[in-house]
Amino acid sequence: DLAQIGVSGLAVMGRNLARNLARNGFSVALHNRTSARTKSLVAEHGDEGTFVPTETLEEFVAALERPRRVVIMVKAGAPTDAVIDELVPLLDEGDIVIDCGNAHYADTRRREADLRERGLHFVGAGVSGGEEGALLGPSIMPGGSKESYATLGPMFEKIAAHVDGTPCCVHVGPDGAGHFVKMVHNGIEYADMQLIAEAYDLLRDGLGASAADLSRIFAEWNTGDLASFLIEITAEVLGHTDAATGQAFVDVVLDQAEQKGTGRWTVQTALDLGVPVTGIAEATFARALSAHPEQRDAAREALPGPARGSVPVSDRDAFVDDVRKALYASKVVAYAQGYDQMAAASAEYGWDIDLGAMATIWRGGCIIRARFLDRIKDAYAEERPASLLVAPYFRDAVAEGQEAWRRIVAHAAKAGIPTPGFSSALAYYDALRADRLPAALIQGLRDFFGAHTYKRVDREGTFHTLWGGDRAEVEA
Ligand code: NDP
Repeated sequence: DLAQIGVSGLAVMGRNLARNLARNGFSVALHNRTSARTKSLVAEHGDEGTFVPTETLEEFVAALERPRRVVIMVKAGAPTDAVIDELVPLLDEGDIVIDCGNAHYADTRRREADLRERGLHFVGAGVSGGEEGALLGPSIMPGGSKESYATLGPMFEKIAAHVDGTPCCVHVGPDGAGHFVKMVHNGIEYADMQLIAEAYDLLRDGLGASAADLSRIFAEWNTGDLASFLIEITAEVLGHTDAATGQAFVDVVLDQAEQKGTGRWTVQTALDLGVPVTGIAEATFARALSAHPEQRDAAREALPGPARGSVPVSDRDAFVDDVRKALYASKVVAYAQGYDQMAAASAEYGWDIDLGAMATIWRGGCIIRARFLDRIKDAYAEERPASLLVAPYFRDAVAEGQEAWRRIVAHAAKAGIPTPGFSSALAYYDALRADRLPAALIQGLRDFFGAHTYKRVDREGTFHTLWGGDRAEVEA
């Protein structure tokens, strides 16, 4: 019997995705460069469903029903190209190659165009939820042709997470759309985590509270508007005690954040598209700053400023509530920016992404799953808002929290607590709502030194002032 789908690349992610497929009743051909992984999967989990283990790619391809569905789940970048190059000569017209790794969307666009020319479908599918998601139900963001989704979609929808009976999987759009959306998801994840970290920092120093106290506060927050996987696990991590020292776990972890690069991709891409994703950028840069111990050591010695905790908090409960509101408002800004980035890419590449559907498929399975996403889905249910911030629900929620947000950003500045996420989100909010921006002065300066011209508020046309001469205005 031929297998319905194949998975090549059986490290943690591929292994769990293959098991998920098998547990859902699909027969799965297995392949891995090193066949020991294939053997151990079958030895340990062979009873979970129908697996067809193979040793070579030729055997693997021969084990699949046609049109073939081949999932690649290997290291992103050159290894993915290596596997595709080896695989393609063995395939037939109409077969579907699905890359579930964390590919850059530009690579996915290139691979899709390349395989299309050879009569094959290439689907770049973002998969979120880590190891556990892959096994129990991830959020899946497939790109590629509509035609390939017709045969692949039902399988992916079955193995994806489900929320209220709706699968966390939808056809995102052509070629690289799926991997693009997965990238923005990861960027938003960076922003979410940074904002949570700032809330933690403010509370810890502002209240002089223990990690265990804060664990309880985050657990409480997880019952309200902020309810989400990341808030839930923040409570877990803060409540954890280091076995070796008996100290709070968070206090024994080196404070230098690492990154695998999807935050950076999101920011780089946003710069190219001209979309301000300040929340994601600040989060990415905050990790980079943390990872420069030599500068931090020098600055700790050299730079004066208020001692942390030196600004008293008179009403502790009110302060906690202010931080919660500031976190929520900043989070809305980060999501609004991420959604702007998806909208811009969708227009640029003609993807026609349904933004509301992206909120729907992020409700379960993935790292940023949150109650809040239902509201985003609603915001896009009718006309697309100019920004998520002006959608009525979010506009009102942020308006309600903005006094608290301003108090917290002011407190942070006075107390010397860095809150790049909270502060830049507030600056973005105020810039967006401003009657006039100082961009007018920037245009004036540009015209002065570079004759870059400007437009006027009162007349059509493009103008230049003769700054070096009699300062008369001429039409450019
Ligand atoms: P890794 O990224 O660690 O990759 C290991 C797998 O890649 C192994 O199967 C390995 O084969 C194979 N491989 C590496 N180089 C080659 C090559 N040149 N030719 C053929 N095969 C090669 O595995 P993960 O399971 O962690 O991740 C798989 C993909 O999923 C990655 O793209 C990752 O970014 C993405 N991803 C991972 C998540 C996670 O939480 N880990 C979450 C979401 C996506 P061998 O056994 O022979 O070495």
